Amino acid sequence: MNNENKNIGRFELWGKWTPELQIAIIPLLEKFERLLPPWCSIAHVEEDHRDMTAECGVDFEYRRIRLSLGPRFFAGTAPEREMWLIHELMHGTIHHLFNVAHDIARNLAQDNEIARTMALKSLREANEGVTTDMTTLVQQLLLTTQPKQP
Ligand SMILES: [Zn+2]
Repeated sequence: MNNENKNIGRFELWGKWTPELQIAIIPLLEKFERLLPPWCSIAHVEEDHRDMTAECGVDFEYRRIRLSLGPRFFAGTAPEREMWLIHELMHGTIHHLFNVAHDIARNLAQDNEIARTMALKSLREANEGVTTDMTTLVQQLLLTTQPKQP
């Protein structure tokens, strides 16, 4: 059984997904659909066969996110998959700010290669750090707001 372009809220599974992978991803997408940024109208989710975990691409102008999930994502434990998905969704939220800062840094540096390289390196590291912090904060918030198990 293969389904094409199945919608889970604002997520849309792109391409062919095996039943096993659908079972692994659909409950996560249902659980975390509310973490998509409010401006996002559609988030395409695709299986990526490269040796990778996950990536998030943002097309802010068209209000779209592209989420690519690789073999390492599906090889992870359930808590790892949750953390990685939240992390990529946080990238989706912050990516517009990153792009604006990236363009400003590049324009200010102009032909100064050293200044441009240093600015963009710092920006990428700060972007990853803030994304990781936001992931931790969201995970802690989810832990404190989930109903207690009997
Ligand atoms: Zn990241």
